[in-house]
Amino acid sequence: MAWDFSTDAEFEAKLAWVRAFVRDEVAPLDVLFPGCEYLPLDDERRKIVDPLKQRVRDEGLWAPHLGPELGGQGFGAVKLTLLNEILGRTDWGPIVFGTQAPDTGNAEIIARFGTPEQKERYLAPLLAGEIFSCFSMTEPQGGADPRVFTTRARREGDEWVIDGRKYWSSNAAVASFLIIVAITNPDVPVHHGASTFLVPRDTPGVVIEDSHHVYGAHRHEPGHSLVRYEGVRVPADALLGQEGRGFEVAQSRLAGGRLHHAMRAIGVAQRAIDMMGQRARSRFTQGSSLADKQFVQGFVADSYTELMPFRLAVLHAAWLIDTQGEHAARTEIAALKVLTPKVIQSIVLRAIQVHGGLGITEQLPLVDMFTTGLALGLADGPTEAHKVNLARQLLRHYEADDPAWPEEFLGRRLAAVREKYGDRVATVPSVPAGPPAAPSGV
Ligand SMILES: Cc1cc2nc3c(=O)[nH]c(=O)nc-3n(C[C@H](O)[C@H](O)[C@H](O)COP(=O)(O)OP(=O)(O)OC[C@H]3O[C@@H](n4cnc5c(N)ncnc54)[C@H](O)[C@@H]3O)c2cc1C
Repeated sequence: MAWDFSTDAEFEAKLAWVRAFVRDEVAPLDVLFPGCEYLPLDDERRKIVDPLKQRVRDEGLWAPHLGPELGGQGFGAVKLTLLNEILGRTDWGPIVFGTQAPDTGNAEIIARFGTPEQKERYLAPLLAGEIFSCFSMTEPQGGADPRVFTTRARREGDEWVIDGRKYWSSNAAVASFLIIVAITNPDVPVHHGASTFLVPRDTPGVVIEDSHHVYGAHRHEPGHSLVRYEGVRVPADALLGQEGRGFEVAQSRLAGGRLHHAMRAIGVAQRAIDMMGQRARSRFTQGSSLADKQFVQGFVADSYTELMPFRLAVLHAAWLIDTQGEHAARTEIAALKVLTPKVIQSIVLRAIQVHGGLGITEQLPLVDMFTTGLALGLADGPTEAHKVNLARQLLRHYEADDPAWPEEFLGRRLAAVREKYGDRVATVPSVPAGPPAAPSGV
């Protein structure tokens, strides 16, 4: 039995370094190169970004989400949470530390399911931060329900031929390769009939029809693409994992990714609270500072009381992963997937309100942060679908009982007590008659 909320001194020193490095060296990139995180580095950006990545490597902090066998640090999920909540305060942080989505999740599934050849070809450059990747699963006619997916892959001799259309393929426009989920056996339920494929983006037949952007994003960002796969031919060994097990591959990718989003969300929400607090102390109206107004005090207190349990819940899920494995944390991760957008949205909304009109201008990052909250309620599956899954997981622990009188019904509890103690008391319940005597001296 060990409950320990302390961070060891050696890692605390690393965190102190990360806090200062992110504040002084990384945060300025958000202003210098806005929306360029996922663009391949040109000479100008490379001159600044590569040395920063090297400093992270020199500190032994590169790719902190991965085990040492994959060139990561093997910190585990709790330490990763403490790191990611700092990185989440900036757009460039995850790139400079090699932990950006969706590449982290893509790297994890190649590491878990890939052949040695696939790891050498795709994983090695991905982990080195040299290339970007894309996970292509959602289709235009629907994302939350895979039963509507129609993209097919059929076997022809030594090749697979992929035909179909995908939507929301983030970073497809800059990715060196795509991981495509396609139906390989339409005659069985989709969860047993889909497979995943590793496909270089320059393969003939991969056509990026358009790229859409989350509202407010820069037009130069790669965005989320509508991709047509038109007779795309790949060799048999492009299959990632086993044929028909595509959803297993996809699911294993999404669980870790959801927790990484929750970790970074702590940073987003804490940044909003910091902005709110500073503004509340700085701005005066009707004779006193905003910090003296009870409504604003309520905003600050409500935000803290939302973030604090959320942060503890993320750390707890991380601890479960470290001590018992990812499967043991699946209910907690599902709950956090639902909570993450809610926490960001409600805290950032208050921060916007405290900043008045300035809060909704492009001069502050707050609307952008709020949009992150909206996006996280949809990406990796909408909140409602996750609530349904979470409820199913929780309800599995309960047995059906008497449909008329629930277990806590007083009549049932009295009957049970009568059976247990009835031979030792005169009546059930056994209560003294009349009010209790007043204590002497009163
Ligand atoms: C920023 C961002 C990045 C993304 N990146 C990727 C990516 O890289 N690769 C990729 O493949 N996809 C990606 N997606 C797509 C994402 O996974 C889908 O948007 C998501 O699965 C929802 O699908 P949909 O948008 O088609 O909405 P729909 O499936 O049409 O759902 C619409 C709404 O219906 C309701 N709903 C749906 N299902 C249920 C249910 N079971 N129970 C109750 N209500 C329900 C919900 O309110 C939901 O919001 C991304 C999305 C966003 C916003």
